[in-house]
Amino acid sequence: MRKKQFKAESQKLLDMMINSIYTHKEIFLREIISNSSDAIDKLCYTAMAAGDASVSRTDCRIRVLADKENRTLTVSDNGIGMDEADLESNLGVIARSGSLNFKKEAGEADDMDIIGQFGVGFYSAFMVADKVTVITRKYGGDQAWMWTSSGADGYTIEPTAKDGVGTDIIIHLKEDGEEETYSEYLETYTLRSLIKKYSDYIRYPIILNVEKSRKVDVPDSDEPKYETYTEEETVNSMVPLWQRSKDEVTQEELNEFYKEKFYDMKDPAHTIRIDVDGAISYKALLFIPSATPMGYYTKEYQKGLELYSSGVMIMERCEDLIPEHFRFVKGIVDSRDLSLNISRELLQHNRQLKTIASNIEKKIRQELKKLQENEREKYEKFWESFGLQLKYGIVSDYGAHRDILKDLILYHSSRENKLQTLKEYVDMMPEEQKYIYFATAETVTMADNLPQTEQIKDKGWSILYMTDEVDEFVINILGEYEGKQFKSVNDKDLGIEDEEDKKDTELKEEENKVMLDYLRDSLDGKVTAVRLSHKLKSHPVCLTADGEVSLEMEKYFSTIPGDGPDIKAQRVLELNPTHKAFYMLMDAWQLDKDRCARLGELLYDQALLIAGLPVENPARLTELMWEMI
Ligand code: ADP
Repeated sequence: MRKKQFKAESQKLLDMMINSIYTHKEIFLREIISNSSDAIDKLCYTAMAAGDASVSRTDCRIRVLADKENRTLTVSDNGIGMDEADLESNLGVIARSGSLNFKKEAGEADDMDIIGQFGVGFYSAFMVADKVTVITRKYGGDQAWMWTSSGADGYTIEPTAKDGVGTDIIIHLKEDGEEETYSEYLETYTLRSLIKKYSDYIRYPIILNVEKSRKVDVPDSDEPKYETYTEEETVNSMVPLWQRSKDEVTQEELNEFYKEKFYDMKDPAHTIRIDVDGAISYKALLFIPSATPMGYYTKEYQKGLELYSSGVMIMERCEDLIPEHFRFVKGIVDSRDLSLNISRELLQHNRQLKTIASNIEKKIRQELKKLQENEREKYEKFWESFGLQLKYGIVSDYGAHRDILKDLILYHSSRENKLQTLKEYVDMMPEEQKYIYFATAETVTMADNLPQTEQIKDKGWSILYMTDEVDEFVINILGEYEGKQFKSVNDKDLGIEDEEDKKDTELKEEENKVMLDYLRDSLDGKVTAVRLSHKLKSHPVCLTADGEVSLEMEKYFSTIPGDGPDIKAQRVLELNPTHKAFYMLMDAWQLDKDRCARLGELLYDQALLIAGLPVENPARLTELMWEMI
């Protein structure tokens, strides 16, 4: 018989398994049992679709049999089985996405610590075996096949005989070494605890042959006599976590379930359990990860919940169950009202599914709100990871989801120096404050240093500092909150001006119109206007923008790669008419117009710096400064 070689990819993974120094080798059992469970799922599904009533879920089981004499551990299932072609394609290459992920992650490094994070599949048997034999017969076929491999040197497939459909995986354990004792995998105690630990929720009975002893009555003898016998014991509890009642399941169990199922190393930040009995009944077990997953804010990230119908998985990632703005939520949904063999196309238009999805959305919102109100610290941590997602949610679909999301967002408030909801901000507004003030900048500190925030702060009012590019779009979409309009600190009219002051400034502006226009012209298109401002107190200048496009938006558009539209803000240089700098300008205007222009240039550069914008010609700025000194 000709030996066949593994495909290159598989060979690599196989090598890693054989040479593994991984400390959790025990997970091999979980992997093999999961495969058995999948095989049974497949059989039930296939038989049902074919209308074959001879296959019953209740007869399905997985057996784990230890043979100490031959040092073998056999895992048998009466699942779908494999034919020759299946063996070739399933066990000759890495089929599983988990395995592929694992390979990518592990790269060429030999850090085996990551094995536990991924399903590593069938090959993990080679962490404990020097030879694996698979005897299998496929549903619908008569011929059984035997696949054998000692690892590195390839595998063989030959016909064999087997009663009944299904698969036996025979693991020939390695010899015990100085540090490793593989024979422990033949002990009932070890096997039982491993099955409990990793495979408790497998829906089919996992049966162990357990050796027990019993007293036998020997007539005419006082000596008690014992005999050993074996008994079958179903080790796993089978009922999936989400089917068990709330007080039966500990948070610890939920955490373990989450980490194993969703390949996360950390416990979830929050767990949501939903149990609805009504026109449509379903159970859901949802998790919010404790940190932003790798690549979360990219197109590659895929959202979705696992969908089950009465404990049988019908879809691994059902995207329609979770809205974009909550795409960070992971979990499973199980409904007995969904038909098992519903097709993907039908599912998309399924009314029951839509109802479930909208319930889930409401429930997540509710839970987040509760968290925000009762466990603020936890909420703020959540906000750090996924706040940006909620902001995107407000902006997307032309604001269709804003009402669901607007009470979940947080902004840094200047007076309280902490994160606040819009409601908290509005509730703290004194009666005479008409607007919700906000300032946008790259960081909170930069926003706090903006000259145009001074007057508002002097009033003792709070300003919301916004540091994400999407923030101004959020404000645009929201427009107002509880009847209070948003107002940028850049706004010409902040609504706090003393009427006298305002008139004064207007008058001064009128008087100096010629000079201001001269300054604008000498700035050569950099600004659309030079104006006097009553907003400034101790600072000489600030930069604001007229029209729809703000300075922050301009920054944002300039970061978009490619040759998109060149969107520019209409910059306005605002001068403080009570500042020394303004008097210097007026003097220069009388004595030396060139100097006046250079002063204007210097002030413009300073305004750029304060606004966090790049100075176009730093060398020229230094030159100007020395000239003025
Ligand atoms: P995965 O289970 O993630 O697909 P594995 O490497 O564990 O990856 O298994 C490869 C394939 O071998 C499986 O997808 C399945 O088709 C087949 N297989 C493994 N074990 C069994 C089994 N007990 N019964 C039927 N098919 C199996």
